[in-house]
This record gives sequence, C-alpha cells and structure tokens, in this order.
Amino acid sequence: MKGAVAWTAGQPLPHGRGSEGGRGSVRRYRKKLMSISRRAFIQTVAAAPLAKLIDAQEEPKKDHVGYCIVGLGRISMGHFMPGCLDSKKSRVVALVSGHRDKAEKEAAKYKVPSGSLYSYDDFDKIADNKEIDAVYIALPNSMHAEYSIRAAKAGKHILCEKPMATSVADAQAMVNAARAAKTKLLIAYRCQYEAVNLEAIQIIKEGRLGTVQAIESANGFVERAGEWRLNKKLAGGGPLMDMGIYSLNACRYLTQEEPRYIEGFCSVIDHDGRFDEVEENVSFMIRFPSGIVASCNTTYGAQMDGYVRVHGSKGTLQLQPAFSYEGIKLTTHIQGEADTEKADKLNDPAQFTTMADYFSDCIINDQEPKTNGEEGLRDMKYIAEIYKSCGRQTF
Ligand code: NAD
Repeated sequence: MKGAVAWTAGQPLPHGRGSEGGRGSVRRYRKKLMSISRRAFIQTVAAAPLAKLIDAQEEPKKDHVGYCIVGLGRISMGHFMPGCLDSKKSRVVALVSGHRDKAEKEAAKYKVPSGSLYSYDDFDKIADNKEIDAVYIALPNSMHAEYSIRAAKAGKHILCEKPMATSVADAQAMVNAARAAKTKLLIAYRCQYEAVNLEAIQIIKEGRLGTVQAIESANGFVERAGEWRLNKKLAGGGPLMDMGIYSLNACRYLTQEEPRYIEGFCSVIDHDGRFDEVEENVSFMIRFPSGIVASCNTTYGAQMDGYVRVHGSKGTLQLQPAFSYEGIKLTTHIQGEADTEKADKLNDPAQFTTMADYFSDCIINDQEPKTNGEEGLRDMKYIAEIYKSCGRQTF
C-alpha cells in the first residue's frame, strides 16, 4: 500500500525514546504513523467485500418454519396441528379464529402466546409478528382466496387447503398475489407427498403396467344437512370441489399428462333440501393426449371409499383406499410378476407432517413447491370445464 508503514499492533514502535532521532522526531513519526494507519484502516474496510459485511449482520438461517393456523376446524385441529407436533421443522406459532375461547384452549396445547392469537378482523396484524413465517389456510373453500391474498400482502408464505379457490379468477389472483409478494404458495395435495401414491406413479413411469389405457376412480361420502359444504357461496360447488378433486388430481399425477378433453354429468337424486344449491353427484370423463381415458365419480349421497384403478396392457394397479389419512393400500397384478400388496404403515397425522415439512424445506431453502399455485389453478380450470359441460357455473 502506497505510503503505508510496515507495523503491526503489538510490535514496538521504531525509533523509540532514547533512539538516534530524539523526542521531536519520535512525536513526528507517531503522528505520521497514526494518520497513515487510519487511512490504511479506512482503505482496508472499503476494500472488504460488501456481502461479507452484510452477512455478518444477517440473522442465522432458521431451522424451522412458524405457521399461523387460519381457521380452527376439523382438518386443522384434528390433523395439521397434531402433524406439526411431530415435527422439528414446522411449528404452530399463531392462531386465527372467530372464537377466542377455542383459540385459547388450542393455544395452551401448542404453547402459542396470547399475543399471537388473532381474529379474522385483525388478521392483517400478522405482518408484524416475526415468529410467523407462513399461514395454513383451513377455511371454507370460498374464503381461501381472500386470506391467501391478505397473507401474501403481509409477507407470509401460504399453505392453502384444497380446493385452492372456488373460481379460476380467484385462483389466478392468489397466484398473482404470491408472485408479487415473492412468497411461496403450496396447495395441500397431501397425496402427492404420500409414499404409496408416489410408488404407484413410479410403477407407471417405469412402464411396468405396459401401455396405460384406462383409469377409474371414485371418492365421496354422505353429507348431512346444515354443513357449509352444501352452501354454494362458501363451498363453490358440491362433491366435485371437495372429493372429486382427489380423483381429478390423481388422474393427472398418475398419467403425468394434462387433460385434452374433459366432460361431466351432474345429478340430484335426493330432493330433501340438501342439494338445493350444490350438486349431489358428478361423473366426469377425461381424455389425455396419449389416448388414456379416465372415468371418475363423486357424490355427497353415498359412501365411496376413495379408490383409483389403472389398467395397462400388462396389468392393473389399484389404490384403495387411495386418499385416506392413513392405511393407503396399493395392489398390483402385473404379467410376469408376483401379485403385490403394500399398505402405508404410518398413522395419521404423518401425511400432514410430511407435507408441512416439505413446505418448510421449500421456505428454508428457497425452492418452488411441487404442488404450487399453478398446480391448483390447473385443477380449478378443469373443474370449471366440468361444471360448464354440466350446465352449471362456478362463481
Ligand atoms: P370445518 O368446518 O371443520 O372448519 C372450518 C373452519 O372455518 C372452522 O374453524 C370455522 O369456524 C371457520 N370459519 C370461518 N368462517 C366461517 C364461515 N363463514 N362458515 C363456516 N366456517 C367458518 O371444515 P374442514 O373440514 O376443516 O375444511 C376446511 C378446509 O380444509 C376446506 O377447504 C376443505 O376442503 C379442506 N380439507 C382438506 C382435507 C385434506 O385432507 N387435505 C380434509 C378435509 C378438509
């Protein structure tokens, strides 16, 4: 360095007291040295890489994600939140509820401080809570869009229950909001993270079924009067939005193709008031680009143990139950292979732990989730097409 004097801290000064130069020259030397050292110090700091200096001030990378639970109902309290208890990466850190007493009870179980309990009205205050990294939205379907968009505006990542929304426009607005806020959005298609479903995908991918020709699937249950799922404004539609979406999504992930034609039929058989606003039954057919045809049924009028059967030129694969919280079972009958039967051994809420931890990893490592907003949006577009072909409309 031009003009710098070679000296390091701790070393004696050259020309100390009693040396040849005398007291005056020592003082002059000290002054020069101090001014040069200060200049040298400033130059050294200026030359240090800026990133390193900023790094030193950055908070250490978090090893977990704090979730704010929006809506304390069956899926959140019975499955997702217990799933977080089994996790080191995903923690319940805040709650949003319209019922303070219920929120306080849950808060005690999950050690959520009272300052992290919110009502729907003061939801936007989550922006100021540093413990909250993400929200888990478990509200009636038509409320998903509003709370996802508000969460994105608060700078929080979003894990939103299926169906993503009740219209294509709302789903698109959610994707746009997350993109604008640079927050991540995952739609809770838990079967796409479940080991037995993943194995079925792999068997088909490897061609062990030969050429896949056809798929059959069904998923439904008997819905009782008074549920929000029968209210079009809250649910957006009937069993297709709630249960048929599992079959639709499975046909897509098993074939790894996007539907070319899709058509449905709706009906109401039980005219007892339950189906004044939403359909009771929907059957839909999908034709994929390869020629694979899928036929699916969904209902709120009968118990349908969710299943999928895939028929290929060399054999058949069956998932039954295919979409349950535990005990998912895969059987194969393939030419030249011994028949197999395999069941998921993990108990509920393991699927929720797996999905939450997957999303937490995406957030911690800044990766785009597999079942992101675009994946949910695709299903919303197919659902809209099915309803259109039935002569019904989404919002
Ligand atoms: P739920 O009725 O048990 O819970 C809904 C929650 O929303 C309740 O806490 C309720 O108080 C709150 N809420 C706020 N405003 C409301 C309003 N205006 N009307 C009714 N409730 C209101 O419902 P759920 O079965 O937990 O379903 C919630 C969401 O989770 C739905 O979108 C559903 O499709 C989805 N779900 C997903 C799975 C899955 O396996 N991924 C399973 C069940 C439900």
